[in-house]
Amino acid sequence: MNSRHTDHATRAEKFNLDESRVDWHDKTLWFIREKRDKAAWQIPEWEQLRETASQIKNNVLSNLHDYLIEFEKNAQKNGATVHWASTPAEHNKIVLDIIKQAGARNIVKSKSMLTEECHLNEYLTAHGIDVVDTDLGERIVQLAGEPPSHIVLPCIHWKKEEIGELFHQELGTPKGNADPQLLTNAARLNLRNHFMTSRVAITGVNFAVAETGEIVVCTNEGNADLGVQLADVHIACMGLEKIIPRRKHLGVFLRLLARSATGQPITTYSSHFKKPREGQQWHIVLLDNGRSERLGSNDFRNALKCIRCAACFNTCPVYRRSGGHSYHTTVAGPIGSILAPGLDMKKNADLPFASTLCGSCSNVCPVKIDIHDQLYKWRQVLVRNGHVSAIKAIGMKGMAAVLSYPFIYNTSGSLGRWIMRYFPFLFSNRANLWYKQREMPKAPEKSFREWYIKNRKKK
Ligand code: SF4
Repeated sequence: MNSRHTDHATRAEKFNLDESRVDWHDKTLWFIREKRDKAAWQIPEWEQLRETASQIKNNVLSNLHDYLIEFEKNAQKNGATVHWASTPAEHNKIVLDIIKQAGARNIVKSKSMLTEECHLNEYLTAHGIDVVDTDLGERIVQLAGEPPSHIVLPCIHWKKEEIGELFHQELGTPKGNADPQLLTNAARLNLRNHFMTSRVAITGVNFAVAETGEIVVCTNEGNADLGVQLADVHIACMGLEKIIPRRKHLGVFLRLLARSATGQPITTYSSHFKKPREGQQWHIVLLDNGRSERLGSNDFRNALKCIRCAACFNTCPVYRRSGGHSYHTTVAGPIGSILAPGLDMKKNADLPFASTLCGSCSNVCPVKIDIHDQLYKWRQVLVRNGHVSAIKAIGMKGMAAVLSYPFIYNTSGSLGRWIMRYFPFLFSNRANLWYKQREMPKAPEKSFREWYIKNRKKK
């Protein structure tokens, strides 16, 4: 991410300069949204599954302390060492210390948004550790020196020709060749070397089962399994909210996750890690980073139910047409826009406004998070705390006055129509931000109120 912070609208404007990219980004994600719909409709009990998942997660949030202790106890019984980190800095230090103790200089990592949240790659690199992301999409953005733009499809904003050029420069593939099979093979061969020589493997965690002390990691490439099975040390990094109470609950979440994410009936690999191999070390690092605080907020605690399927990204008209990097946070899209202000209200004050509030995100969410309601609530919190621009604050006050008094409302309506008719340039100019991407409509002859009064009298 750029070190200079720019807001969502400014970044989206940049993304929108490349119209063809915006179009296929939009279409590709909508295609995945449609696949998700078809997969969901094939299951008659889909809505019941969503409701069950939502209730399990509600139960987890209400009893999180107990489930975490139960998970720790059982994981330790299985041979894991459990570490607790309250901040990303603590998390990163714990991971670095484990790597140093293992005497490793290079490690492999499978996809983990939590380590992105902690900027672990940058931290380890700065301490002389070579980190290789092994998920293909993650590897592409890593080679390009970018963060992922989507939590399930990290390089969805890249064209295959661009990946061909990147691989030509970084992996020596033939110039001008963008054949997906050739590029995948090149990445595979390159990654194989890293798998074979890394003594430490880091994975994320999709679900941590309190009852058994096991973790489940879902990948489509099997890279988490290969990394862990070949390494002497496995470090699993997870947020506190990844807990589920019982093993039998996995069936609910695994059925929902892949269908919601990509429209697949099941993720290709749902890998269970319960015990380290003989002679292998297994560490689990649990991170808080504001989650406990979020748990105490009635309005926003539900965001912790998220299972990171990205269905809300794929359906969101704003995400699809503004791209993931416009959100300047680790988790983009609608869910990112309700998580980020809780971490830094000032820096992320723009994000809850990057939405039409159409509610499509809440409709597809497999754990029934009230995403669009929370976006709306965040706007109110941000305004109350003075985190909107002076222009917007003055504009909203002016609009409140206009809408509160019928005389002012009717007079400003007539005045506006008159100006649009005789002095349109007063509206159609670059100072009018709303006009920038639009054409002004023709001014109507009369207001709806005038039309209604006239037509009602006719009856
Ligand atoms: S908020 Fe819901 S739809 Fe969005 S990523 Fe999380 S679980 Fe998926």
